[in-house]
This record gives sequence, structure tokens and C-alpha cells, in this order.
Amino acid sequence: MTLSGQSVTILGAGVAGLAVARALALKGAQVTVLEQADAIREVGAGLQISPNGAVVLKALGLGAALEAVSIRADAVELRDGLDGSLVTRLDLAQLRPGQGYHFLHRADLIELLCQGARDAGVELRLLQKVERVDLSGARARLVFATGAEQETGLLIGADGLHSPTRAALNGQQAPFFTHQVAWRTLVPCERGARPVAEVHMGPGRHLVSYPLRGGTLRNIVAVEERRRWVEEGWSLKDDPMELRVAFESFGSRVQGWLEKAQDVFLWGLFRHPVAPVWQRALPEGGVAILGDAAHPTLPFLAQGASMGLEDAWVLADSLADSLAAGGLAEGLAAYQARRAARAARIVDAATRNAKAYHLAGPLRSLAHLGLRIGGAVAPSAALGRFDWLYGHDVTQPE
Ligand SMILES: Cc1cc2nc3c(=O)[nH]c(=O)nc-3n(C[C@H](O)[C@H](O)[C@H](O)COP(=O)(O)OP(=O)(O)OC[C@H]3O[C@@H](n4cnc5c(N)ncnc54)[C@H](O)[C@@H]3O)c2cc1C
Repeated sequence: MTLSGQSVTILGAGVAGLAVARALALKGAQVTVLEQADAIREVGAGLQISPNGAVVLKALGLGAALEAVSIRADAVELRDGLDGSLVTRLDLAQLRPGQGYHFLHRADLIELLCQGARDAGVELRLLQKVERVDLSGARARLVFATGAEQETGLLIGADGLHSPTRAALNGQQAPFFTHQVAWRTLVPCERGARPVAEVHMGPGRHLVSYPLRGGTLRNIVAVEERRRWVEEGWSLKDDPMELRVAFESFGSRVQGWLEKAQDVFLWGLFRHPVAPVWQRALPEGGVAILGDAAHPTLPFLAQGASMGLEDAWVLADSLADSLAAGGLAEGLAAYQARRAARAARIVDAATRNAKAYHLAGPLRSLAHLGLRIGGAVAPSAALGRFDWLYGHDVTQPE
């Protein structure tokens, strides 16, 4: 199916926006991406791309580029944060050997998607901050921060957490503070680090770490429950000592990493509802949202970027199918129908994970014992619990 001659405007050059741009351009659409920033860049942090996200990159012809910049993960290990002992291990290398589970730097993912979009003929325009999206007319109207306005036939909002496109479709919906904060930092990685994501769990807190960039860097995300409010942005610096103090009861392995922390960022974790409305057909076009704009998720399942990749594939596929049959409205509706239930399930599962990681007292010992026994007796059963998540391949016919 082709989108030949169809012109599309995408708002936002993050993971979801760049992926859908390449997917649509490969099907023949004329694609323009509008980005508010003055350059396509990412913050210094790591990202995990699980097999369900990797299959999309592969289907977009970016599989080799992904392999070149990522580390293939062997396992996720859940550890008792207080003494460092292994609670259970998920052997990721057995998951889907064809696709793999990847650790990479966010900037490297954005760079490969950006290059992929450009190679497919996508036009990228920077310094295009949109203040408001107006859907009251026959076509979507973008109102820029400069006061300029532009109408567009097919608008795709990949504009992240504070999406003006989502607001135009759904109105403003206030998120709520989860009373959890997260620090992120990159530290030099010890030589010969294993390609393993370690989750160190303690009462009211946990810390996730894995190696990046050929094992030269170690990514750290540390989460603590707290009453005090912290803002949602990603660029608030914090004193590394605050992070060390929060995890001072943890074992020597974690202490060793945190001693090396220099540039540390802190942000508040907020829960946003999944958007009820993801798309609308207009008299002369239509609009859709994807990625964090549609379903922001807490980071406890490492799925936000992979979900954005899944959305990108399904949106391009649904539009190509329906436009070939003459109707944009059907394609937009099919996109939401194919994605909404899975997105809600992943967001719920991520929310529940934080509780399991942060148990305290007798419950904690009991849960750890159960995991240790389960992992020893039936290791493949533990992995099987994630089939619905990692085994899902949106690039294959349903
Ligand atoms: C600590 C942490 C760890 C994570 N780890 C993982 C992980 O391991 N694996 C995983 O899959 N996901 C992970 N995620 C989630 C993932 O990073 C996000 O879900 C993903 O980046 C969302 O991509 P997006 O393209 O939808 O939005 P974004 O990446 O936010 O991109 C939105 C883009 O739109 C632009 N934009 C926004 N508003 C406007 C506007 N008004 N006008 C013009 N441009 C605009 C922005 O500048 C930006 O470039 C993590 C998230 C956090 C916080």
C-alpha cells in the first residue's frame, strides 16, 4: 500500500515523531517534521529498547544501525539493594534471539532515527514551537509561538508529555504527582561490565543500572518515594550528595557507582491518564497523536520509546491501508483501535512495578523469597510472564 503524494505534517522530532516520519516517507508520503528546539538533540541518559521496539526499527531498515550503537542485553537481574544478593534473573538472551534486547544512549537512538528520516526524504524544520492546535475548521491549524499560523491536511502530534495536539483533541487533563522522584546520571563504567540491567530494590526506593556505548558508560536511574513535590522537567540539576544519601543503606556495588556521580538530574514522576481520544477526522484531513502525547508512562517497565515505535508502525500501516481504499477517517480510527488496549495495559503494568520494587518489612522478605524460588525452579516461566509484552510484533499481520 502506498501514501504517494499524501502530505503529512508531524509535530515533534523525538523517538515517535522521527520513526513515524520515516515510516510514512518510505510509503511515499511527503513528510515535514516541525520541532521546537534549535537542534535535534537528546539528554545524556540511557534507554532500553526491548524486542517489541527493535522489530520496528528492523522493519524500518534501521536494524543494522541499532546493532552498531547498542549493547545486546543478556539479562535483567533483580537484586536485594541492601546486600546486593541476586533475587532472580530474567535471561533476555533467550527471549527472541532474532531481535534482541538493547541498551543504548538516547542521543544515539535519536541520531539514527533522524538520519533515517532524512534518508527517506523527510524535511526537518527547527525552531518551530507550536503554542496551540486549532481543530475547529476544515483543516488543522497550527498557531506558532511567533504568532504565525499554518493550516495542514494531515497533522500527527508526536509532541510529547505536554502535547498541544493532545490538548486540542482531549482538552487539558492534569497529571498527579506520584510522590516518587527519580535521579538520572551517567558514570564511567568499570572495565568488563556484563551486559545486564541490574535492578537494586530496597524499602521505598530502587535503582536501575546498565552499561552503554561499548561498556564505556554506565546509566543510572534511581527512584525514591517522598512527600515533597518536585517538578516534572528533565533538566533540573541536583547535588550528587543527595543521591548518595538517599541510597546510603544500599550495598557496596551501588555505593561504588554513586561515588563517581557528578552531573545528576532530578525530576518528579507524574501519572498522566492515557488520552481517551487519539485521532479525529476533519472535513479536509485529520489529526492523530502517538508516543508520550497519547500515553505517557512511568519509567518502571522501560517501555515509553518502544511503545512510540510500535505506534509509529501501526499508524503508518493503518493510514496506507485506508487511503488506498479512499478513506482517511477509517485509517485514523483503525490506528486507535489497534493500539489503545495494549498501550493501557503497558501503562498499568509499569505503574504496578514500582510498588513491587519498593516493598518493605515482612512483605519484602516474602516477595523476594517467592521470586528466588520461582527463578530457581522454573526460570522460563518467569520469562514467559513477559511474552505478551516483548513477544508482540506489530510489523506482522494480526
Ligand atoms: C527516566 C526515564 C527512563 C526511560 N527509559 C526508557 C527505556 O529504557 N525504554 C523506553 O522504551 N522508554 C524509556 N523512557 C520513556 C521514553 O523516553 C519516552 O517515552 C519517549 O522518549 C517518548 O518519545 P516521544 O517521541 O513520544 O516524546 P519526546 O521524546 O518527548 O519528543 C517530543 C518532541 O516534541 C517536541 N515538542 C514538544 N512540544 C512541542 C511544541 N509545542 N512545538 C514543537 N515541538 C514540540 C519536543 O521538543 C520533542 O523533541 C524513559 C523515560 C524516563 C523519564
